[in-house]
Amino acid sequence: MTPRRELHSLVMAARAHLDALADSGVEHLPGVLPPPAPVAASRARAPSAPVPLAEALAPVANNRAPSFEPPPPGEVLAPSPRAPAAPVPRAVLSGEERRKRLSVLAEEVASCTRCPLHATRTKTAFARGNPDAELVFVGEGPGTEEDRQGEPFVGPAGQLLDKMIVAMGFGRDDVYILNVVKCRPFEPDDATKDRKPTPEEMAACRPFFDRQLEVLDPKAMVALGGTAAQALTGAAAGITRLRGTWRLFKGRIPLMPTFHPAYLLRSPEKKREVWDDLKQVMQRLGKDSSTKER
Ligand code: SF4
Repeated sequence: MTPRRELHSLVMAARAHLDALADSGVEHLPGVLPPPAPVAASRARAPSAPVPLAEALAPVANNRAPSFEPPPPGEVLAPSPRAPAAPVPRAVLSGEERRKRLSVLAEEVASCTRCPLHATRTKTAFARGNPDAELVFVGEGPGTEEDRQGEPFVGPAGQLLDKMIVAMGFGRDDVYILNVVKCRPFEPDDATKDRKPTPEEMAACRPFFDRQLEVLDPKAMVALGGTAAQALTGAAAGITRLRGTWRLFKGRIPLMPTFHPAYLLRSPEKKREVWDDLKQVMQRLGKDSSTKER
């Protein structure tokens, strides 16, 4: 047997063993190290942390972006270390390729008729910000102003979000901001009132969102509000219980749920809790989080 065939046999045997473990309910392999950089999946986890079995089974030699399967409900990531995370190389796409793919996707979204929201939109709100961003914020859907301007988070809640972003030490356009759905949902009997997107509307729009995230491949995400947090984690709990604890999006991107800025406009006393959540994000991204709430 040639060395190449022998290596192939060993790999197949190891994979069969891991598949058997997965079938028998084993979810983590203690002591297995994540694949070495620059594989994107390794970058957010401390070397000693257990690796999800699904990730251990994933191919690492072909340099492709990992697949985006729905995450297990409620998967919780270990708290971020106090020390800044080591810088990790970006994923395989160049900035130019990233922009090209997002531009193609934005055109698809602009002509989308997959759900009834297309019939009442003025403009789709695809995203705003920097496609090379290491940090991505996710809301639930566009409101009146976003529908008019064709960008997410440009109304009063967006202005507060911009202040939060600046307080974290980023420029407004250093981060990337998008919603779970791209067209505005509003109450059928009162077009002036926004509403949450329905599960059907979110499911129809989800392929766009997943493709956006696959291209962006950020180091961390922040889910703004319960609808986005539940949609991205699969958890059923409300935002009061979900916020403040790291989760994993698609089993690999650290995601911090926190309150929506629109809620903060109504309940400003909650700003301290949001700031605590954002400080955890800053720590994970290696930013100075020692400053007080700004
Ligand atoms: Fe298409 Fe999403 Fe708009 Fe529905 S919300 S029409 S799925 S782009």
